[in-house]
Amino acid sequence: MMPMRRRLAIALGAALPALSALATPAMAFPERALTLVVPFAAGGPTDKLARELAASIGRALGGTVVVENVGGAGGTLGVARVARARPDGHTLLLYHIGMATSPSLYPKLPYDTLADFAYLGMVNEVPMVLVGRRTLPATDFTALARWLRDRKRRAVLADAGPGAASQLCGLLLQQSLGLRLTTVSYKGTAPAMADLLAGHVDILCDQTTNTAEPIAAGTVRAFGVTTPQPLSAPALAGLPTLHAQGLTGFDVSIWHGLYAPRGTPPEVVRALNAALRSALRDPAFVDRMQALGAVVVDDDRLDPEGHRRFVAAEIERWGRALRAAAR
Ligand code: ASP
Repeated sequence: MMPMRRRLAIALGAALPALSALATPAMAFPERALTLVVPFAAGGPTDKLARELAASIGRALGGTVVVENVGGAGGTLGVARVARARPDGHTLLLYHIGMATSPSLYPKLPYDTLADFAYLGMVNEVPMVLVGRRTLPATDFTALARWLRDRKRRAVLADAGPGAASQLCGLLLQQSLGLRLTTVSYKGTAPAMADLLAGHVDILCDQTTNTAEPIAAGTVRAFGVTTPQPLSAPALAGLPTLHAQGLTGFDVSIWHGLYAPRGTPPEVVRALNAALRSALRDPAFVDRMQALGAVVVDDDRLDPEGHRRFVAAEIERWGRALRAAAR
């Protein structure tokens, strides 16, 4: 397949004969390696996804995509870094549902979620699993709920800070149980999981892309999936839902999307969207996602305007849910 850079140059050359007659060279994209900002620590679910996407997007563009981890403040520090970057398509952001929850969680976000980005398309949807350290006295959710009610603030819930998926799930869990636990926030769920494995924290709610392996290895205890339907991926099949274990209506699923700074030229947005589409249609990528319980989005969610509308609706939806949870 012809690399995206040449196809874009040819398309522009054909569309702009008058300019090419003036000997203006057709714009080359990419001109150098792209940076894909992951707003969480390396080794976590967003980072793992980014590294897969970086390789495929790089192949589709005929260039290189380097992942940069900018963790902290639930991901919003990394988002701010991309909002301020030069809008030339060489700095991209992979972020999740935090794009829609952080406007309700941070009174002064240093960017405007809907106005400051070029939306490039959605990526996947990932359920979560509530896991606990292997040495917990509880082996099922009913016993865990009892233990948490007993321990209250002495029980430690790990998360990745306000706006992170783990924090959202943990917040809804505490709300559903009518409890407040002690929370410890990390720059991503990779370090949170490391501390759970070491027994320093008690529970963590995290995406299946980060929990499937330790569950299969038996190094963490799984208490329930966060979607109303059980999961079919072999590593996760057989896990009960939280919904079926008394948390009626518990439903958290995490989506990821790809972004560039506002002002990125439309032809570059088109090139990046096409590269994302080709990365997501790679059968090996789709299989790996499925094996980890994640679902790659359909074509209609890859449309940049559809992506922006979806995030606008999610900001409303989670705004209502988070206001209710804070009461
Ligand atoms: N997705 C984050 C990570 O990759 C963590 C989170 O959102 O909870 O670490």
